Amino acid sequence: MDKKLIINCRLNEFELRGPNQNIPYTPDEIAEDAARCRAAGASIVHVHARGPNGEKSNSPELYAEITRKIREKSDILIHTTLGNVENAGDAAHRIKHVQVALPDIATIDPGSTNLDRFRIRERRFESVDKVYANSIDNCMFFAKTMRELGVKPSLGLWTVSFMRTAGVFLDLGLLDAPALAIIPLCGDGFIAGHDATPAGLEAYFHAEPSGDRLQWCVCSYNANIFPMAALAIARGQHVAPGLGDYQYPELGLPTNADLVAKCAAMARDMGRAVATPAETRRMLNMRPAT
Ligand code: ZN
Repeated sequence: MDKKLIINCRLNEFELRGPNQNIPYTPDEIAEDAARCRAAGASIVHVHARGPNGEKSNSPELYAEITRKIREKSDILIHTTLGNVENAGDAAHRIKHVQVALPDIATIDPGSTNLDRFRIRERRFESVDKVYANSIDNCMFFAKTMRELGVKPSLGLWTVSFMRTAGVFLDLGLLDAPALAIIPLCGDGFIAGHDATPAGLEAYFHAEPSGDRLQWCVCSYNANIFPMAALAIARGQHVAPGLGDYQYPELGLPTNADLVAKCAAMARDMGRAVATPAETRRMLNMRPAT
């Protein structure tokens, strides 16, 4: 297949170091990890700002330090979250760090879902009020603001309806084609999205916007990504592995770069080369690096 593979490594999310100690927290740790992922074949890193003990942060200054330090060490594209530290926060507040830090890519979740985790063995919800609210109005505001800033949106597609909304946004010209997306599959009691199985991913296929206008990367919360990575690679789409989603005890507690290298090797075995950051920019119709 001629189309190259985009690997977007999800370095840390909100995951705390547990069995795996390789999850980066500080700007220096994130920048070093990002450079190692670039060397292993990733063209994008997805990062969340974290305090020195892993605590959540949506500080614009911390995001600015992270983007600066990553760019000092490599040319990898930087993809930040949209501050779901406050799940239903004011839209202008949520996008503030993007305006200050100017990453290459930032998330828009075009729909709403409940992020509460269900503890399967204990048969109880860990929380019962984590509504991740994203009105159409707010999503339009985020898309317009990012276009003005020259930041490429990455759409978080938690269910098929989010993918359908992405298609409507493309039809309305609110997003430039090809749009970029993440499909976050959810394992082990995290029921906000589709199950982390090949069937959970295949359920999206009938709803893909026509004409190859949506380039998506699969990711896998609380579950090993590789069965779904193989499916995404075979379909001509892309992958987003990372310790931010799952710590991989069955693989001997790898680093983020180890996961990237495994995806790159799988792609090469399946006849696809991996895209560099410059190639990824061209594939996604992004502005050239400044
Ligand atoms: Zn994230």
